[in-house]
Amino acid sequence: MPYRFEFRPYRRPFQRPLQTSHGTWVFREGIILRLTGSAGQVGFGEIAPLSWFGSETFEQALDFCRQLPAEIAEATIFSIPPALPACQFAFESARETLTGNPPIPKSRHPTLNPLTYSALLPAGEAALSAWQPLWQQGYRTFKWKIAVAPAPEELQIFHRLNQTLPAPAKLRLDANGGLPWEDANQWLQACDSCGAVEYLEQPLPVDRFDAMLELSNRYSTHLALDESVATLAQMQDCFLKGWRGIFVIKPAIAGSPSQLRRFCRQHDIDAVFSSVFETAIGRQAALRLSAELSRHNRAAGFGVSHWFGEDDEIWLENLWPTY
Ligand code: MG
Repeated sequence: MPYRFEFRPYRRPFQRPLQTSHGTWVFREGIILRLTGSAGQVGFGEIAPLSWFGSETFEQALDFCRQLPAEIAEATIFSIPPALPACQFAFESARETLTGNPPIPKSRHPTLNPLTYSALLPAGEAALSAWQPLWQQGYRTFKWKIAVAPAPEELQIFHRLNQTLPAPAKLRLDANGGLPWEDANQWLQACDSCGAVEYLEQPLPVDRFDAMLELSNRYSTHLALDESVATLAQMQDCFLKGWRGIFVIKPAIAGSPSQLRRFCRQHDIDAVFSSVFETAIGRQAALRLSAELSRHNRAAGFGVSHWFGEDDEIWLENLWPTY
């Protein structure tokens, strides 16, 4: 059965630029797509690429959409090449929404329970005060980007943050692959002795897999891979090479949701699901996967709506009034 296919590119500014060790991020660019079935049923999907993370670029995704006809076959959705993982996610999740297979929870806009999400703090000293309003909103897991400033400076802020955060709070550190070996060891020593760190994410660059495996054996603080496991092919590779720590999965760029389900279930992966600053459309599809596949009650990394100025739903309705 063919689907009618429409798409709209978008460009959305962050309320303030987002700093990571990959650089500063000012706009989120993506594409919203809509599939319509022969009986008029619709499903939305979102392409939210993150090319510095290993997905296709926004332009490549746009080229892909532009060369598709206005009517596409079911087979087209399942034959999108692995080089376009954000497109695979968007088309398959739009189809899932349209067909209700697998079943979609009744509430179209489920209330976000902050307890089940981790909230992203700004890098550097700003974190010391930014956690408080988020705590009041109910967040108990916080994520803080490190490897943005020199380690001694950040370690000092880390100790202060630990002293100010109330005891039930959990802290996740994310180095985005930006730590040298010596610094990574220093950080893990600090984490082991404070005990409030849920995990350290991607301490070393992607090409230093063996060194990260070594760190995971050396310290008791959990390690998570993120940049190393951006796509399903990379997840499979790291698993084969012996990684049994946490996998941070960004469904929007991981590729085909049906293949992702198969991989996580087959290997009983300890996964944390995470946002790539997609809109509510991509987020809902990603959260469905998180609800299906998370273990250990790990908070999902979707506490990011405070990084955009406008309300998500209003913004989407402006982009696509029938949404
Ligand atoms: Mg990360």
